Amino acid sequence: MARLAQTAGLTDIQEEILATVRTFVDKEIIPHAQTLEHGDTYPADIVEGMKEMGLFGLTIPEEYGGLGESLLTYALVVEQIARGWMSVSGVINTHFIVAHMLKQHGTPEQKQKYLPRMAAGEVRGSFSMSEPELGSDVAAIRTRAVRGESGYTINGQKMWLTNGGTSNLTAVLVKTDEGAEKAHQNLTTFLVEKPEGYGEVLPGLTIPGKIDKMGYKGVDTTEMVFDGFEIAADQVLGGTPGQGFRHMMDGVEVGRVNVAARACGIAIRSFELAIEYAQQRKTFGKAIAEHQAIAFKLAEMATKVEAAHLMMVNAARLKDSGRRNDVEAGMAKLIASEYCAEVTQEAFRIHGGYGYSKEYEIERLMREAPFLLIGEGTSEIQKTIISRGLLREYQSRG
Ligand SMILES: Cc1cc2nc3c(=O)[nH]c(=O)nc-3n(C[C@H](O)[C@H](O)[C@H](O)COP(=O)(O)OP(=O)(O)OC[C@H]3O[C@@H](n4cnc5c(N)ncnc54)[C@H](O)[C@@H]3O)c2cc1C
Repeated sequence: MARLAQTAGLTDIQEEILATVRTFVDKEIIPHAQTLEHGDTYPADIVEGMKEMGLFGLTIPEEYGGLGESLLTYALVVEQIARGWMSVSGVINTHFIVAHMLKQHGTPEQKQKYLPRMAAGEVRGSFSMSEPELGSDVAAIRTRAVRGESGYTINGQKMWLTNGGTSNLTAVLVKTDEGAEKAHQNLTTFLVEKPEGYGEVLPGLTIPGKIDKMGYKGVDTTEMVFDGFEIAADQVLGGTPGQGFRHMMDGVEVGRVNVAARACGIAIRSFELAIEYAQQRKTFGKAIAEHQAIAFKLAEMATKVEAAHLMMVNAARLKDSGRRNDVEAGMAKLIASEYCAEVTQEAFRIHGGYGYSKEYEIERLMREAPFLLIGEGTSEIQKTIISRGLLREYQSRG
């Protein structure tokens, strides 16, 4: 059989991009990931390398200086990067989501203003929906923007911004009170330009320090505090207030394919480490891979890797074809993240005591996998999306 997680029907360009990224991951990411992660160090050199390869503009249309590639290409690139170190994929993920939202929903002026500089990696995006008191329940957002004569004033607190300190453009979802009956119709996305860094970066806008996390290190995750922050009305994404929920949901839909791809990447790496170790380690006179209990673990892990990859690819292709993919993206995210947690756990067990040592990569993967069960919507939220879609499609005639 072929190696795991192959994708049929790719173009020559896609194959070329993936081969380049795979080599970059093997040479520039995997050898440095453990040290950088243990030091919680931002991977500045790796990010420069990604800039040079044009990865920040991978999906931005060519007219704005990007490579104009599909969601599928992006997802396969992310899968490879996460195979090396998931945090590195986190650096480009929020950027990719903001670029997608601008491309789909920005005014012509906003696209012109940001997309070329985003393609070059000069403007780096992050996005913010979550607050200290809400994550899943997006419509309950409390941070509020009030319209004045010359623009809006924002007050409130945001939580869990990936790349909050290292980005310079944040798409922020806030309440604007459009007088709509439904809460989610009173939400607006603002494009907040800010300097990189921590502290009071602009009058009324503070990025406190990095949140200390169990994994997903190196990449910064922060809060964002608005205290009388003033912003011009032309920074409303798309120009019309009240559309923010729709914009963000479109963003997280592609984000879910991306999280599925990250989970696939970690699972592939865990499998690679496990099958290598299982052939080296001997107990009771033979390699542990020759004990059926371990061989069966490898078979199950590989089957999960393959299933998750295929569902992720299917969800990406559906979106690329212009069709709705909320159910498929939800299914891909659900299965890939749950399988990723299971596969890393099994790879850890195969490593015996050494899996618990910081010298072995599997301990890092074990700490990274749980984030994928939460980010871009928990498994419970994916099941809610999937079941709603199914009930829509299979409506009872009774
Ligand atoms: C490292 C990290 C990075 C992040 N980066 C970002 C970012 O860049 N931008 C951003 O906006 N957010 C980000 N988040 C936030 C993330 O999206 C939320 O944590 C996630 O959506 C869950 O929200 P919550 O933490 O408030 O959990 P809650 O919504 O409080 O949920 C708690 C538990 O209740 C369950 N639950 C909630 N509602 C239901 C329901 N209706 N039915 C059944 N079960 C339910 C959940 O599944 C979960 O198990 C990040 C989070 C982390 C940990």
